[in-house]
Amino acid sequence: MTFALTACEEQQATPDISDGELAYRPPVLRAICLDIDDTLVDFTRSARCALSALIGRDDMWPIWVRTTEEHVARVVAGELDYVSMHAQRTKAFLAELGALIDDDVAGRLEEHRRQMMRSNWRLFGDVLPCLDWLRAAGVRIAAVTNASGGHQRAKLASLGLAGFVDHVVIAGELGVAKPEPGIFHEACRVLGVHPEETAHVGDRLELDAIGARDAGLCGVWLDRVGEHDPAEDAERLPRGVHVVSSLASLPELLVCEFAAIAPVASVVAS
Ligand SMILES: [Mg+2]
Repeated sequence: MTFALTACEEQQATPDISDGELAYRPPVLRAICLDIDDTLVDFTRSARCALSALIGRDDMWPIWVRTTEEHVARVVAGELDYVSMHAQRTKAFLAELGALIDDDVAGRLEEHRRQMMRSNWRLFGDVLPCLDWLRAAGVRIAAVTNASGGHQRAKLASLGLAGFVDHVVIAGELGVAKPEPGIFHEACRVLGVHPEETAHVGDRLELDAIGARDAGLCGVWLDRVGEHDPAEDAERLPRGVHVVSSLASLPELLVCEFAAIAPVASVVAS
């Protein structure tokens, strides 16, 4: 008995320059990257519940999000380290509400908030069926997150996902964050695949889908909240970026967009 690579192994990604923009149509899907927060885990719900419990009201969420984004930008710019960012963010947020606290109190409040958030972590209902399908299809799976560090692995493990994920790529450890190509290319490197053999799925259009597309992967925007309007988004959605409203739709999309789905070391008897 001899073994040979599948016919799909011979195919090459096909550049499509019909609109003057270089895009790739990968012939075979061998791996998938998944964002974690608000893609696999209902992060916004848990974070919002924890914040409400901390301050006793629910109407300050927009200020929290803005303050968080400002502090994350400082981390990405190298002005602030990830470890101290969380307490500094909480201190700045409370200052906007008129509560001036020192660093020690900010640190303890932040730890309390994070404990409450951990107790509220939940998977979206479409996650496990999708991961089961991907595993059955034989593709490798990486979690790719812009978060700070090891707590993301603990989050995946506590929610029963550790066995589904081959690698976890964390921006805070790598020093490169989405949408930079480097984090997507590192995910492909550890997975042992080429970018054109890989799809990335995430809830942020620019960070996840467009970033992945620009890095040579198939970019998929998971629009859980119904932000996408096909009539108005024709120009906003770049060529090569796909949209699904649920992970339940992902298998059909992958089957349609890729010529085949196969494990990295796919061989068949001949
Ligand atoms: Mg996300």
